[in-house]
Amino acid sequence: MDVAEKVVAIDGPAASGKSTIGRMLADELGYLLIDTGCMYRAATWAAIQEKADIDDEKAVVELTKHLEMSIVSPMGYDDGRFYTVFLNNLDVTWNLRQAEVDAKVSQVSAYPGVRINLVKRQREMASRGEVVVVGRDIGTVVLPAAPLKLYVVASAEERAKRRWHENLSRGEESNYHDILADIIRRDDFDANREHSPMRQAPDAIRIDTSGRSVEQILKQIMELEYISHLAASSKIA
Ligand code: C5P
Repeated sequence: MDVAEKVVAIDGPAASGKSTIGRMLADELGYLLIDTGCMYRAATWAAIQEKADIDDEKAVVELTKHLEMSIVSPMGYDDGRFYTVFLNNLDVTWNLRQAEVDAKVSQVSAYPGVRINLVKRQREMASRGEVVVVGRDIGTVVLPAAPLKLYVVASAEERAKRRWHENLSRGEESNYHDILADIIRRDDFDANREHSPMRQAPDAIRIDTSGRSVEQILKQIMELEYISHLAASSKIA
């Protein structure tokens, strides 16, 4: 099987479960997980750290050209992380989940220059094959030729509840209503922006995770014909 065929694209709205599914699927297949959301988050975090004016598109775009960012495996951490993100050699994995980043990331990711810079890196990383790539525009813009595309959805209330539980499990107090409001605002912004809006690709398979366990969802995905094909090819290799 050609490497270009060993790509799974997963898109969907905030906290829909796409990263959890992506992590489990990548583990099952022995593939690399590329969560593009954390790249936009890292750009936003860097802009906040450098006290850049988020409304200054030119400055924010310039900053993303030179980001020293790397995303590696969790490296032995057992704190619920799916990967570790380094920015200028500092572990910023959990900083990227702060409410301040949630509040600004959609504005940063809507700048076309930011997308050009980050999409270039995403395509380079995916070109090695054997990857599960998670985001908003993977099936439509970043890797439109991906042979398998999933679009993961759940109700906004359920997504907010999950995020609230996730925060609590890390010992972080948060307000459910604030999380829900942020999720709705971010989805609306991401779906209606001019460049690469969040959208289901016409050939994507829609997976509704509402009211279902991760195990049930993974079972459904593992039974998809193309995934069986990929899994069989991983075992042969
Ligand atoms: O997936 P996550 O919630 O971490 O993504 C954070 C934000 O990054 C999204 O709300 C969206 O604005 C942006 N994003 C994007 N394109 C992607 C992935 C994420 O614009 N492929």
